[in-house]
Amino acid sequence: MLAANSKLNLVRIGSHITISSLKEIGNGLLASFHGIIGEIDLAHHESPMIDSIDARLLTLILGEEYIGNTLGITDADLKIDDDEFYNSILGGKNPNNDVAVVSTKKLTPDHIGSEAEIDLLIDRTTKVALHEVGHNFGLTDHASFRPAPDGSLCPMSRGEFNKFGYRGYVRAIVDGRGLRFCDECRLFLQSVYGWKDSQKDIVKDRLTSSFN
Ligand SMILES: [Zn+2]
Ligand SMILES: [Zn+2]
Repeated sequence: MLAANSKLNLVRIGSHITISSLKEIGNGLLASFHGIIGEIDLAHHESPMIDSIDARLLTLILGEEYIGNTLGITDADLKIDDDEFYNSILGGKNPNNDVAVVSTKKLTPDHIGSEAEIDLLIDRTTKVALHEVGHNFGLTDHASFRPAPDGSLCPMSRGEFNKFGYRGYVRAIVDGRGLRFCDECRLFLQSVYGWKDSQKDIVKDRLTSSFN
């Protein structure tokens, strides 16, 4: 199990996103895991242009290069051998180390060029990154759509992939997720890592819920 206030290695695999986008994703992770992730080290991992890579293999490669809590971001499709219908996923985590990976392949809007489209890609990548890093900290998937206090889906929400197809899935589940964890996840993080939300957040929550 990782320690509280641990460092996260945020590794760009290949040059598909800019370092400033990577930094934005890092800031999003720091904000959502405030008090749990103490520091993020940005890194670049040289990689040939490839269409797809075995998710487990990629986590093993990164696990040899980086120590501790690590998230790799690739634009290659991720393959997992035990998935028969969909041969690629948005992200994955190796249960045997603290390495998770995210693929931007299916998160990228049809056209990418405008600032809004780049923002959407960063937002989606951050949300999938939160989910996978959440696994690194011991959080588990929610099969049901569990809302966080702000009304959006908890980052650990995971719907049925087959039901939506990947485009529908990205819009319904990934875009529907917020940047804050639900009560159950927060309770877990509190009990394991002594995580405390700031006072300001608690006051805001009470106001929101009393007006709903
Ligand atoms: Zn998951
Ligand atoms: Zn949750």
